[in-house]
Amino acid sequence: MHQAAGTWLCPEPLDRARFVDMERRMRPVRNAVFGVVGLGVAGLAARWGWEVLAVFAVVCLLVPVVDLRMPASPRPELWLMALALAGIAAIGVAIAMTGGPTSPALPWLVVPAVAATAVFTTRGVALALGAAVATALLATLLTDAGGTVAAPSYVGATIVLIVSVGLYVHGLMRAEVRHRGDSVLDPLTGLLNRTTLERRFEELRQQAALGNAPIALVLLDLDHFKRVNDTHGHERGDTVLRDVAYELRKSLRSFELAYRLGGEELLLILPGIDEEHAAALADHVRRRIAEAQPGGLEITISCGVAAASGAALRYETLFAQADARLYAAKAAGRDRVFPVPSDAHRERVLRLVS
Ligand code: GH3
Ligand code: MG
Ligand code: MG
Repeated sequence: MHQAAGTWLCPEPLDRARFVDMERRMRPVRNAVFGVVGLGVAGLAARWGWEVLAVFAVVCLLVPVVDLRMPASPRPELWLMALALAGIAAIGVAIAMTGGPTSPALPWLVVPAVAATAVFTTRGVALALGAAVATALLATLLTDAGGTVAAPSYVGATIVLIVSVGLYVHGLMRAEVRHRGDSVLDPLTGLLNRTTLERRFEELRQQAALGNAPIALVLLDLDHFKRVNDTHGHERGDTVLRDVAYELRKSLRSFELAYRLGGEELLLILPGIDEEHAAALADHVRRRIAEAQPGGLEITISCGVAAASGAALRYETLFAQADARLYAAKAAGRDRVFPVPSDAHRERVLRLVS
């Protein structure tokens, strides 16, 4: 499978990388907001009618579906946009059921609209805010056109609220993305750059020490990458790097970190994982990348893996060990992981990640 092409919402792989990163950070907030809205709807159901609660319940059922499907989807942004639009539509229905232009549900449109502005690029923001504004107008005009036109200030104030809060949150999000992007993200791949690497490792080491848990490093290098540049040009080489980074990100869980150390050398930090499991995970990544054909080419990678816990857990020692093993993997013919994972560990990891 070649990497999914961009969508209108995320034209470039970096757009998608930022979306995935932002969505992951915002997910607990999003789910908490769902809870708050749910409590509100349940509390008001006796006055608003139980149908409104049913409408909300339908949207709630979509949340676990989206949470399950999104991480594995090649176009995760479409799932979240579908959820946002479903939320907007549900509130539209609730507005129509509870009085149209006088409905107390009208200002609630701001919730799904602003949730979308917190994670999407400008296009997604325009779509979500546009949909919310259109829903405010349609749900009131279609229910009671005369009433809406005769007393438009409530609908008007709601629209102003949606657009202004949405723009404000979007501005904050862009400032945050730019700030973090400038300082810690590699612009080509969207992976972390090495600025924060050792500080982050030290934080993880301290956490791991509390529970005597291991930390694994996977040092990953593209095989014969110079040939890609020489044969297909530097630009294609860049596409390969972006596609590899994308595959990598898809194979990792949210607390696992991927860095671009420079050139075509990447480093994974896997907290809580021992050497055997890290090697099996690296091997899974190796296969996934080969299958994905980054940049439309037959690309392979080699990996060196090392893990430690307790007093033996030092960045320099682990890195040196992983580096020596990467070198050994290259010397042994490339397209492999050292140490070689056992079949039992492979199967266990496969069950975990798929
Ligand atoms: P090996 O299998 O031993 O790793 O061989 P290799 O050719 O991958 O290794 P080598 O270190 O000799 O070459 C790495 C190449 O990566 C050289 C450089 O031109 C290329 N490279 C480094 N950074 C970038 C980049 O950002 N974009 C592109 N397109 N190429 C890059
Ligand atoms: Mg290389
Ligand atoms: Mg290299």
